[in-house]
Amino acid sequence: MMFEPPFSLLIDGKLRASASGGTIKLVRPDTEQPGWEVPAAGPAEVDQAAEAAARAFAEQPWALLPARARSDALFRLAALIRQQAERLAQLESQNVGKPLGDARWEINAGARAFEYYAGALPRFTGETIPTSGEGLDYTLRVPIGVVAAIVPWNFPFLMACWKVAPALATGNAVILKPASLTPITALLLGQLAAEAGVPPGILQVLAGPGGKIGDHLVQHPRVRKIAFTGETTTGARILKLAADGIKRVSLELGGKSPNIVFADADIEAAAAAAPGAVFGNAGQDCCARSRVLVEESVYGRFVEAFVAATKKQVVGDPANEATQIGPMVSAAQRARVEEYIELARSEGGRVLCGGTRPHSPGWYLAPTIIDGLPSESRVCQEEIFGPVACVLPFRGESEAIRLANDTQFGLSGSLWTRDVERALRVARMVETGVLSVNTNSSVYQEAPFGGFKQSGFGRDLGAEAMHLYTEIKNVFIRVPAKEPA
Ligand code: NAD
Repeated sequence: MMFEPPFSLLIDGKLRASASGGTIKLVRPDTEQPGWEVPAAGPAEVDQAAEAAARAFAEQPWALLPARARSDALFRLAALIRQQAERLAQLESQNVGKPLGDARWEINAGARAFEYYAGALPRFTGETIPTSGEGLDYTLRVPIGVVAAIVPWNFPFLMACWKVAPALATGNAVILKPASLTPITALLLGQLAAEAGVPPGILQVLAGPGGKIGDHLVQHPRVRKIAFTGETTTGARILKLAADGIKRVSLELGGKSPNIVFADADIEAAAAAAPGAVFGNAGQDCCARSRVLVEESVYGRFVEAFVAATKKQVVGDPANEATQIGPMVSAAQRARVEEYIELARSEGGRVLCGGTRPHSPGWYLAPTIIDGLPSESRVCQEEIFGPVACVLPFRGESEAIRLANDTQFGLSGSLWTRDVERALRVARMVETGVLSVNTNSSVYQEAPFGGFKQSGFGRDLGAEAMHLYTEIKNVFIRVPAKEPA
């Protein structure tokens, strides 16, 4: 097991360097020092992987194995992930800059994804349908074929597992492409899968730049389905590239999620929970509740408590157990976020806390709360993907709903109220794929997760995700009602 460098691509069951010799030179977010070098796949590796995947899908019995055998392999993979969890968490933490505790959570949640789909697959069934024909009609859920799973840098291992687990469970061959900045744990997932008995070509891992190999992978004629998590603009590009081949596409994209606090809520609880909901993972979270909407009558009280709780957040060394917010993933990402903070200032926004670089070296940015901007401002509309929250006041339920929906995105959100009827009404009206009431946790392995509007379509997690990786085949068998005379 190659848990130490050099890390390798996994193509057709073999650990490989890149034929072009290209590498990705990683830099540590916490020290700004050069880190690992990882092979960068080029178009030649994409072609090899796509051919190997198509061959494996057609010739290897993976999809035709009894459900129990596939299930056993995925349970073995989950067990291997759990055995190596601490090492994987350290690598993830060092690569992404996320606090070690968060990385541990992520690795364990990745293992849980394999356990869930390993357990779910024997219960993923078709139907028998009473038709008007003389015979028996039934449906089969059959794998799509070669799936390209393209994932982002913010939760590299978890996003990979959310796609690879249901795709493998349902019998597909998967080519996993992690983001260039964060390829390490995805490459190791490939090795662990091989050790667990997933056959060569059924899971392959290619690190490489999105623009260069992503396009090629998406357009490759052998690839029949693209499961993508990333930015909305990249998702739109993938959708266009996939159109000519009528490929199946599912997209988990950006967000600008509301956190709605009504005056009748437990204000202290809502304020205490608000920093974690937006600044977790240094705000690099598609579910970040970055539009905090507060009823006018409790606005001052809530904002004061929210700022106080934010100032208590521990920003620092990701290896330190007490750290809640580590550095951002790259210098470029921090610079982008700082531009938004400048923009907010120039448009008359008030920076209530943060906006500074609390440590150096390392791409740290203090959690930042801004108010005084209108909902239509760019800072309140665009996904900043960093530790920045905008606070906006509202008057009454209908304005809360209007503001919550006043965004192109529709991924997640929270609402805080003690009024059950209001909770039910507002939960129905807010246009997001997931929503939580009196908590900010809305992501569970067992429940579907995904977006409305420009946050994408298709659902990860839960039994729902298995539908994304299968086609329905309908079979009709003629059975004459009477024995021929
Ligand atoms: P990104 O879109 O830049 O990259 C995502 C992946 O796509 C990477 O692997 C990248 O290399 C690849 N890619 C880039 N260009 C490509 C192309 N032309 N063809 C094919 N692949 C290409 O996103 P990111 O910056 O890595 O991640 C941050 C984004 O991901 C944010 O917008 C965030 O909201 C979103 N995200 C969404 C969810 C969700 O479930 N909805 C979860 C996590 C992150």
